[in-house]
Amino acid sequence: MSEVIRLLPDNIANQIAAGEVIQRPASVVKELIENAVDAGANNIELHIKDAGKTSIQIIDDGKGMSEMDAKMSFERHATSKITSAADLFTLTTKGFRGEALASIAAIAHVDMDTIELGAQLGTKIQIAGSKITSQEPSSRPKGTSISVKNLFFNVPARRNFLKSDNVETKHIIEEFNRIALTHPEIGFIFSHNGNVIHNLEGAGLRKRIVDLFGRNFNNKLVPIEEETDIVKVKGFIGKPEFSRKTRGEQYFFVNNRYFKDSYFNHAVVAGYDNLIPPKHHPSYFIYLEVPSQSLDVNVHPTKTEVKFEDGRSIYSIIRSAVKLALGKYNIAPILDFEH
Ligand code: ADP
Ligand code: MG
Repeated sequence: MSEVIRLLPDNIANQIAAGEVIQRPASVVKELIENAVDAGANNIELHIKDAGKTSIQIIDDGKGMSEMDAKMSFERHATSKITSAADLFTLTTKGFRGEALASIAAIAHVDMDTIELGAQLGTKIQIAGSKITSQEPSSRPKGTSISVKNLFFNVPARRNFLKSDNVETKHIIEEFNRIALTHPEIGFIFSHNGNVIHNLEGAGLRKRIVDLFGRNFNNKLVPIEEETDIVKVKGFIGKPEFSRKTRGEQYFFVNNRYFKDSYFNHAVVAGYDNLIPPKHHPSYFIYLEVPSQSLDVNVHPTKTEVKFEDGRSIYSIIRSAVKLALGKYNIAPILDFEH
């Protein structure tokens, strides 16, 4: 008899986990911006080089980390965001798995520079292949900067699998848009190869949509609003005449989290009734709020799917809210411009 089972060393376990969480540069962007939001940042900068393949830098003015936490943050299952299983049902943060930084550090070169709010001195660390390679004090004034370079340097199959810069940039823009729409109150700067793509001041939702997608959106939006015990619905839907054959901007959020849901998409389209031609798609930016106990976000590490306790009721409420909004707009379209 011999024993052949053994525990994987951390760096291998992290690399395997990274395969789940970090599929492409856009996954890094998502995880790091979410961390900046969770850290209470008011302003977040995203700078990428070569579609994120060469480097991705996120700078925030959030609460930062102590030296201990900075080192700890790269351990697997290291999180400050939950302490018990019950917390999973009352999440107010985007992160909770404690996997992102450990995963990224397993497959890229990472520089972190951070200072805890109120501290005199910050910490700069470099990490590659899950190992800290250098550490020194830092004099940055506030918040955290994380640079991720040479993504997948030690996973050639993954690196070769990446698509063209154009395609990878589109994925990054999509992740950026989702977070910028979740948090219109946060200011964002986004640059690619030194060119500024977006410089967004913190604003209301309508302004954020217009800043992201263009001034013509100002005339396209109808406000939507509904409040029941099960769900609160807010946001904007596109006027029927702006529906298109290609899917445009279609965004659902619940409790400050972007999610995808073809069932609720169907509810929106049903709410338009016959106002849009067959096979046309409306734009929408719909924000739901539900009691956190009735929502399960713990479905998949990339977390764009969620589970609702009462999906069928929410379906009907969305459909009727869309109908109502369009009815109001048809009676008094001019009202729309006052929002
Ligand atoms: P999670 O977000 O699921 O907790 P991460 O691996 O993304 O896991 O981050 C680990 C921990 O590192 C976080 O729980 C948080 O305490 C800390 N952290 C990460 N990024 C930042 C940041 N930009 N500012 C402050 N703390 C951060
Ligand atoms: Mg995180």
